[in-house]
Amino acid sequence: MSDRDPDCLFCKIVAGEVPADIVLENDEAVAFRDINPQAPTHVLVIPKVHQPNAAELARNAPDALAGVFTTAAEVAAGEGLEDYRAVFNTGAGVGQTVFHAHLHVLGGRDFAWPPG
Ligand code: AMP
Ligand code: ZN
Repeated sequence: MSDRDPDCLFCKIVAGEVPADIVLENDEAVAFRDINPQAPTHVLVIPKVHQPNAAELARNAPDALAGVFTTAAEVAAGEGLEDYRAVFNTGAGVGQTVFHAHLHVLGGRDFAWPPG
């Protein structure tokens, strides 16, 4: 598979072709604020390579998956968050709408467990 899908919104954000409120970027990942935030901090951390979900990312680009999680920790620290929730939705049935793997990093409010 190519590192890029020409029809993918998040590949376009990686390439700088679609604007985003970027929080940080490094060799493996880009972090930007969710356009429809569900918490005071709601940042999406995405791998630069195109993979449709977390499991495919783990299978095909494990270093990028690790980079997503270490980037999430940097984002949380930068936001002043000691605690945060990190979520990969996998499949339309649980609400995945963009099929480029992305880790939701949420914090700054109370969270219920189990999640809704
Ligand atoms: P999911 O439902 O897990 O696939 O998450 C997709 C997320 O991407 C949603 O929370 C959307 O609000 C967010 N989103 C969609 N388009 C954009 C965009 N152009 N910039 C930032 N976030 C976006
Ligand atoms: Zn993509």
